Amino acid sequence: MGLPKRRCPNCGDTEQHFRHLRGAERAFALAQTLVPVHRAELDKYRRCTREGCVRVQSYFNWRSGFDLPDEFRTPPQTAA
Ligand SMILES: [Zn+2]
Repeated sequence: MGLPKRRCPNCGDTEQHFRHLRGAERAFALAQTLVPVHRAELDKYRRCTREGCVRVQSYFNWRSGFDLPDEFRTPPQTAA
């Protein structure tokens, strides 16, 4: 079973795979105030897996979301 695909406004409104939040991402989601996230609802929030994208949004409502800060951005892979 693959990851669910959802519309990502940060990726030009294309369909992207979203995964569950990990430790530091969960902590940030609870601490930020742009989109209030209750601890009980944390599992509804998913992160876009496209490289370089820091979008986190509700699995059920793509409009309900926010960006993680730059330190969560995956560094671009450099070809050897
Ligand atoms: Zn994205």
